[in-house]
Amino acid sequence: MATIGFIGLGNMGGPMVANLVKAGHIVKAFDLSPVQVGKAIDDGAQGAQSAQEAATDVDFLVSMLLAGKHVESLLVTGEGALFDVVSPNTLVIDSSTIDAATAKRVAEVGASKGISFVDAPVSGGVGGAVAGTLAFMVGGTAEQFAKAQPILACMGKNIFHAGESGAGQIAKACNNMLLAIHMTGTCEALNMGLKNGLDPAVLSEIMKQSSGNNWTLQVYNPVPGVMDGVPSANDYQGGFQVDLMFKDLGLAMELSQQSASPTPMGSQARALFNLHKAKGNGGLDFSSVMRLYQE
Ligand code: NAD
Repeated sequence: MATIGFIGLGNMGGPMVANLVKAGHIVKAFDLSPVQVGKAIDDGAQGAQSAQEAATDVDFLVSMLLAGKHVESLLVTGEGALFDVVSPNTLVIDSSTIDAATAKRVAEVGASKGISFVDAPVSGGVGGAVAGTLAFMVGGTAEQFAKAQPILACMGKNIFHAGESGAGQIAKACNNMLLAIHMTGTCEALNMGLKNGLDPAVLSEIMKQSSGNNWTLQVYNPVPGVMDGVPSANDYQGGFQVDLMFKDLGLAMELSQQSASPTPMGSQARALFNLHKAKGNGGLDFSSVMRLYQE
């Protein structure tokens, strides 16, 4: 049993804390929102009054915030930065989706203070966080990965060592760019079929059994009525928001620029999500990009 500080109890962090508690760990939970802290207490965590309290005397410190600037401010640059508080025995795990450059910079500052930091972004969404089936992509040394692995396994099913510091964030950017390409491509194909009189359920089945098969067809069909229990069956509520996909595509484009990697398909997908978001759809699930084709 470990003592774990957890900061950021939102859509993802909240259920991740619940799974750490279920696995028998002591969790000191903090969020800027007292309501979120209250929910974590209901799930069996200890509520912390401050980030500093959550980060003190813990074996692990996990953060689950929105962007790189929040993570860097919390750990390194902000008032009461946690790297001035955590013990060198604490492994700091950031599971937020942030840019790889910030993750590497934070790890370097940590190392200069004798603090171990790994990037460990996740895939699997809120459903995966609730079910404890997230995929973690970890950037850090083999030793850091070995230490983080059993804790991450309480919240996820597949725990990958992507490579050195920052590699987890790079893997996440690659994966989500591919997901956006798959989703927009699948919408494009399904819409063309629909426009030419095909039943989307029949066309989906044909493509699933043919060379167009991909994850969005298998478990996340974007056309309402084809699949039960997915956001398209619920007016595109829940799931993975357009805003977050747009954010992740921004991170992928930054990475492509920094590494001079050509990403014509990724930038096209980003343009489509940008347009869809600009039309006021940022809060809908990302499969709602289907509507862009149907307008
Ligand atoms: P969220 O906005 O629901 O939660 C973020 C939480 O952090 C909020 O409760 C906020 O109050 C808290 N917070 C912000 N700054 C803080 C600070 N300094 N100290 C304490 N608490 C602070 O976001 P989310 O959906 O849980 O996403 C978290 C991360 O996970 C993001 O990087 C996102 O890209 C990534 N992610 C999300 C999903 C998803 O489906 N929601 C899937 C995969 C990855």
